[in-house]
Amino acid sequence: MAELLLAAVAVGRPVRGEFTYLVPEQLAGRLLPGQRIRVPFGRGSALGFYLGPAKETSAEAMRLKPIERELEREPSLPPDLVSLLRFAAGHYRYPLGEAIRTALPPGLSGKDAHEEVQPEIEVVAHALPGADPATLSNAPAQSAALSYLLAVGGSAALTEVVHAIPGARESLKRLEKRRLVRLERREVQLPTSADWDQGRPGRLTDEQQAAVAAITSAIDSATFSAFLLHGVTGSGKTEVYLRAVEHALATDRGGLILVPEIALTPQLVGRFRSRFGAQVAVLEHDPSFKQEEKLRYHARDLAVTRAQQLGVTVVLGSATPSLETLENAQRGRYRKLELHSRVDDRPLPQVSLIDLRLERPKDPARLTEPPLLSPPLFVAIEEVLGRGQQAILFLNRRGHSPFLICEVCGTSLRCASCDVCLTHHLSPGRVICHYCGFATSVPSRCAECRGPLLRLGVGTERVEAEVAERFRTARVARLDRDSASSAQKLTSILTAFARREIDILLGTQMIAKGHDFPGVTLVCVLMADSSLAFPDFRAAERTFQLLTQVGGRAGRGADAGRVMVQTYNPDAEPLQRMLVHDFDGFARAELKWRKAMAYPPFTRLVALRIEGLDPEETKSRATELAKRLARKLPPPSWGVRLLGPAPAPIRKLKGKTRWQMLLKGPSHASLAGPLSVVEAFLDELPASVKVAIDVDPAAML
Ligand code: ADP
Ligand code: ZN
Repeated sequence: MAELLLAAVAVGRPVRGEFTYLVPEQLAGRLLPGQRIRVPFGRGSALGFYLGPAKETSAEAMRLKPIERELEREPSLPPDLVSLLRFAAGHYRYPLGEAIRTALPPGLSGKDAHEEVQPEIEVVAHALPGADPATLSNAPAQSAALSYLLAVGGSAALTEVVHAIPGARESLKRLEKRRLVRLERREVQLPTSADWDQGRPGRLTDEQQAAVAAITSAIDSATFSAFLLHGVTGSGKTEVYLRAVEHALATDRGGLILVPEIALTPQLVGRFRSRFGAQVAVLEHDPSFKQEEKLRYHARDLAVTRAQQLGVTVVLGSATPSLETLENAQRGRYRKLELHSRVDDRPLPQVSLIDLRLERPKDPARLTEPPLLSPPLFVAIEEVLGRGQQAILFLNRRGHSPFLICEVCGTSLRCASCDVCLTHHLSPGRVICHYCGFATSVPSRCAECRGPLLRLGVGTERVEAEVAERFRTARVARLDRDSASSAQKLTSILTAFARREIDILLGTQMIAKGHDFPGVTLVCVLMADSSLAFPDFRAAERTFQLLTQVGGRAGRGADAGRVMVQTYNPDAEPLQRMLVHDFDGFARAELKWRKAMAYPPFTRLVALRIEGLDPEETKSRATELAKRLARKLPPPSWGVRLLGPAPAPIRKLKGKTRWQMLLKGPSHASLAGPLSVVEAFLDELPASVKVAIDVDPAAML
């Protein structure tokens, strides 16, 4: 019998593992990793992805079925991405075929699709001289499209603008008619070095110079190298990324930049665009890089793996690296590059803490309300406005008031499907669940006892109203998920602030990261306590990071900056450390605590979340899984531990009861055995209960 050709295949169905098929004669020798194929599966057929040759004993091969046909001649995914996905599916315990499907360009993940034709002609939109979005107040869509163009440096491909602002195609045509924009059809062109000099500082600081030299020589070595670029806010890290990309392009390589916050994209695109057409893996650590559904990957960790597989350079840049990354640097896995001072020796902002316990309102009727703007804060804002500078007010809570509580019986207004309070929003005048989106009209009385409802707590809408009231001549804008519900609105608010058409920008974490607004000299954190009180072992780290990041927006231009933090816990470690810009001291203390508590980076965690509609069934399945795991845990000397099961911090979400368990072990390998127990359990589970496996969880809710 002639030797049979066997193929390893990922099937595009929610099934674990790889499958083996026969390669029919007509496909012999022409299949490439990642290529889409159709294979018989169960009683029908399924989309599959060829992974590579497989080995099998001939006895098994007799029962194998052949691949039906190929769906494309060239794989839609590059082979290196396929090997990255194979790693990720294994590490994060996710079905490989599903992982590949989600990575495919849209349109290719379902039925057979025709090959996409690569467009070689593109339409580029150029803003014409004098075009000003402010003159388009009666045409907000056009104003937003124009704002985007100006924010990214005046020109952009039509497809890019449409991607950022859906519907921009029509707006750009109208802008062309108004002679504010010129649309040009041209061949897709790669940027030339002549375009590279705009806004490029003539001299790098010595520290920037040293960092760039280390990164570029690593790029030239064409081997895997990982760097941690740890630089204080405003130290010119972005400039280091730009130079690294410049070097990669000049030596015929490319680069990949990962951006941590969607709100930052237009500005960063602008900085890269003004230098070149954009193409080195630059990353920032960030919780938003952790995917919270499906394939729960961490983009930072996958980027490092990808760089390793490709043998290229990866740079992780941050003012507040995660403790995991810091520990990797200390163990020598990443090379640390440090930028200790700001560009032009500008001072770091001066930080002060305002003890809210001492600022409580004297009026007994207002005692339930935290002071939104304490007297010291009020004075500081007035000074900044008087000097014609800008202020950022940060509060990580949107809406007007987060709690409605009955004054008589104390019952709070909660979401029927989620174990959380409903937030009152002035616009559109409803109470809304921030977890499931449920919205209803604002009740005037308590459903239990008809008592009057008190609105407690503070959200951005409430602060906005107070700021507008107390600084009547100031131009105030709010940036949160409600006010920036579309890319359009986001871009126009940020552009207006950059153009200094707004004096006070109030917002949630969307304004915390990366932005470079040289006019901002005051950053106020209205309430540091909500982040400190988070039920998560990373609460202190997150607080330190968030406050350092948002504070870092102050004093980036010619004028020195100040940061004022209102809090009921001025003695908390992260606040005391951020007061003196002591990242190293914070990290030392926190690492010591993590070690004592056996938390990452000293252990590996896997969170298991059990969810189901029936509270009793969910609980009993959770208990059953825990028992089964407990019986199969390795001997205690391995250091693997199971915590829980316990109700999740948010006990109910979208109508489903939630339980959770944590597996802790010294390495991922030590958890492999217990995880296969979980997977076997999953295969037996009825559809009414779901278990999600979250490897290296970022959030513990
Ligand atoms: P970071 O990313 O570290 O927060 P940025 O790269 O945004 O800092 O730099 C802060 C500001 O300093 C930016 O406005 C940037 O254009 C400017 N800048 C960066 N490097 C230099 C340099 N070598 N000379 C002059 N200005 C610089
Ligand atoms: Zn809800």
